[in-house]
Amino acid sequence: MTVQGKYGNRASLLLIYTGGTIGMKQDPVTQTLKPFNFSQILEEVPELSKFACRIDSISFNPIIDSSDIEPSVWEKLADEIGKNYDSYDGFVILHGTDTMAYSASVLSFMLENLTKPVIFTGSQLPIGVPRTDGKENLVSAIEIASSKDADGHACVPEVCICFGNKLYRGNRTCKVSSEEFNAFRSPNLPPLAEAGIVIRYNNSVIIKPSDWDAPLKIHHGLDTRVSILKIHPGITPQVVRNILCGPETRAVILETYGSGNAPSKPWFLEIVREAVAMGKVLVNVTQCLAGSVDMGIYANGRTLMDCGVSSGFDSTVESMLGKLFHLLSLGLPEEGFQELLCSSLRGEISK
Ligand code: ASP
Repeated sequence: MTVQGKYGNRASLLLIYTGGTIGMKQDPVTQTLKPFNFSQILEEVPELSKFACRIDSISFNPIIDSSDIEPSVWEKLADEIGKNYDSYDGFVILHGTDTMAYSASVLSFMLENLTKPVIFTGSQLPIGVPRTDGKENLVSAIEIASSKDADGHACVPEVCICFGNKLYRGNRTCKVSSEEFNAFRSPNLPPLAEAGIVIRYNNSVIIKPSDWDAPLKIHHGLDTRVSILKIHPGITPQVVRNILCGPETRAVILETYGSGNAPSKPWFLEIVREAVAMGKVLVNVTQCLAGSVDMGIYANGRTLMDCGVSSGFDSTVESMLGKLFHLLSLGLPEEGFQELLCSSLRGEISK
């Protein structure tokens, strides 16, 4: 479907609808929420025709609640972007909020040398209800995705989430509220842009490519043999061993306390050492919403480091999961793997 802006044809965008609340409408008879026919998007959001750009849209089939997201959907999204990369100036992805931070994180790693915006958005209330936040989110996402600077380059050539008047780097976000319109936060990085009367870009934070002509490189074949272990008081040796030493596991994110602390009990450290000796990658990411892992501060953190656990720095869990899926797929030798793990590949950690 094509929506032709009435002010000309300066930019062109591809809107990709994967599902989620934003594309729902209340059935007037049953009062239940149902996906609306996406080809009627203009009826729901007539504002789209006022943009000075061409907007084409495609809808995934089937559309899904984002709690059903799987790596195959990410592969499909990356493929759609790759296939259409030369034909559009930017991409807006409509996606459920539940796993949007995971999808935006993993896409940021799958898409290397990105020179165009890939903006995820969605809503807390369906677009077909009067108080929806979906229209504002969509309209801001479209405006940002089509914005160019004086040199004709995209203002934000990154994978982002646009939600509640703010544009965040996708791999820095987490969903923090199931009810508020401001459902997302980027605790360790300021927003890339804020939409008020005008859209203010935070150019000191936005990453610009060193080579605008470098071809987009898409990384396929994510390796998902990664687990997450959230440390908690009362955790048992059986649980820790099952997760850390499972035969199918290649990497584990340890969600630790504070600045990267975990129990110092001998049984715990023994299992950690055993997992490392088996060749598993263990990465330390804090359970705190904000702040960074620093294993040098407390003795308990230092012990983890001595056991061979790597720092996740100020990564979110969502981002580290995507980074590990990506890095494990590259088949790197251990040294090269560790080097990339500790580096900022797409601005996902403050380093
Ligand atoms: N369960 C929905 C989803 O993530 C919620 C939403 O869209 O906000 O697809």
